[in-house]
Amino acid sequence: MHGLMQYHPLLVSSLLKHAARYHGNTEIVSKRVEGDIHRYTYAEAERRTKRLVRALQRLGVKESDRVATLAWNGYRHFEIYYAASGMGAVVHTVNPRLHESDISYIINHAGSTPVFADITFAPLIEKIAPGLAGQVRDYVFMSDEANMPPLELPGGVRVHCYESLVAESVEDYEWPLLDEGSASGLCYTSGTTGRPKGVVYSHRSTVLHAYAVSTADAFGLRAIDRVMPIVPMFHVNAWGVPYAAPLNGAAIVFPGRHLDGASLASLFNAERVTMALGVPTVWMGLLQHMQRTGERLETKPRILTGGSACPPMLLETFTKEYGLKVCHAWGMTEISPVGTCDAPKPAHLGESPEAEMRRKLKQGRALAGIDLKIVSDAGEELPWDGKAFGDLKVRGSWVASGYFGGQPGSALDEEGWFTTGDVCTIDPEGYMQITDRSKDVVKSGGEWISSIQLENIAVSHPDVAEAAVIAARHPKWDERPLLILLPKPGHTVNPQAVLKVYEGKVSKWWLPDAVVVVAEMPHTATGKLQKSVLRERYRDYLTSGGCS
Ligand code: ADP
Repeated sequence: MHGLMQYHPLLVSSLLKHAARYHGNTEIVSKRVEGDIHRYTYAEAERRTKRLVRALQRLGVKESDRVATLAWNGYRHFEIYYAASGMGAVVHTVNPRLHESDISYIINHAGSTPVFADITFAPLIEKIAPGLAGQVRDYVFMSDEANMPPLELPGGVRVHCYESLVAESVEDYEWPLLDEGSASGLCYTSGTTGRPKGVVYSHRSTVLHAYAVSTADAFGLRAIDRVMPIVPMFHVNAWGVPYAAPLNGAAIVFPGRHLDGASLASLFNAERVTMALGVPTVWMGLLQHMQRTGERLETKPRILTGGSACPPMLLETFTKEYGLKVCHAWGMTEISPVGTCDAPKPAHLGESPEAEMRRKLKQGRALAGIDLKIVSDAGEELPWDGKAFGDLKVRGSWVASGYFGGQPGSALDEEGWFTTGDVCTIDPEGYMQITDRSKDVVKSGGEWISSIQLENIAVSHPDVAEAAVIAARHPKWDERPLLILLPKPGHTVNPQAVLKVYEGKVSKWWLPDAVVVVAEMPHTATGKLQKSVLRERYRDYLTSGGCS
């Protein structure tokens, strides 16, 4: 027997429609690339978004076409999200921090036709436009006529001004009823392993993810919140905030392009932000600013950190010295991105402050709708004892099943699980902790050594700014850990002193075989340590007598 309930497809447009109707006066505030603050309401946002749909139609955009963006977090980017997806096209966010050859590859591979760009990216557009001339017909600069950049583009390519396109359009548009399984967004992985791959989100997956991250033990968003997504809209949809905020009627504060500690602190206080989301690098910048200047966050916002492991010092200082509530989350491009959050369970009530810190440094437990398991090298499921570690697999309604251009299911194993590439433990309460990326783990004589654990210990030394542990080739053990260190500015690092810090913290056989001090560490476009480059450079360090 079928249920007898109404059927309404889960559509991205319904989120904006809801916010405009029930939270019409709630603000969207943006620090613009033009330098000023722009503010308007959800009601106005929906009206302008409908005009933008009309503009997209005039540009020839049809259902399923990809609309690329190269943009910071702001209200115009938000409008493109909803206009493109809402009309049945696909918003294709492109990470402007990638190398221009990757950007061209991604736009080309996705077959995106119009490209929307912030004016700061005009020099980038000039570089990539000749190579995309056969494909991209229209570049739209997200500004008004007064701020349009002077450009030299190949013949046949049209340049538009965003504000003029919107002004020339009417808002007589009704959001169409689409198939909830149709594509709404496209985001490429950072390509840390090979060429970037496109993850194709659907309306259904996006809306379900928005509901799941809204729950109290995840982002816990409310209509009285003022949420600041510092995490970029150009990488995994700013962790779903542009969808979850309208769903809850929360105000949004978009920080634009300046994400340094001083700019963020002033925006936090001026706009009374109650919750913000970002990667540890951003939080470290904010913390250093507050420590240097004495400035504090007056609203004591909730801080959600993710994207890479939360450094223990960050958690301690934010919590104990600044009274901020820190939540730790984990996810990836292929998971829309959020899979786990670290909120407590009844078993943790009354836990000691030390136990709480230990728990919060774990990546957390699965959101309802996400299923996790860890498996051994042989593919057998491992126990949830907090000790056994293996490859993390995931499945759920907002987990990718294939990549752009591929077949559904092609990214999954025979049982329908997606292999994350993370190596983890899961404790008896279901809290997952990443011990490594599978390609980073050091396999010494058949036993696994966690590079992350060794790195965390190294950075607790006061002279060390950043540490990386890679698997170096070894004639006897196959692989042994090699510790690579970047000193803090103005400090020198004594390798022996750093190795001493390991005493009593790890088994002797985990100790790095050698230490290399470097003047610079390579990072990816999303700010993560690029271990593939270090591996390339130092893989034979131990076998070549200490020469790279
Ligand atoms: P990429 O495109 O490089 O895969 P993602 O942004 O999708 O980048 O990154 C996903 C990966 O980031 C995860 O598989 C995991 O290794 C890492 N990651 C994400 N959140 C956390 C976290 N809270 N702690 C540790 N690592 C994390």
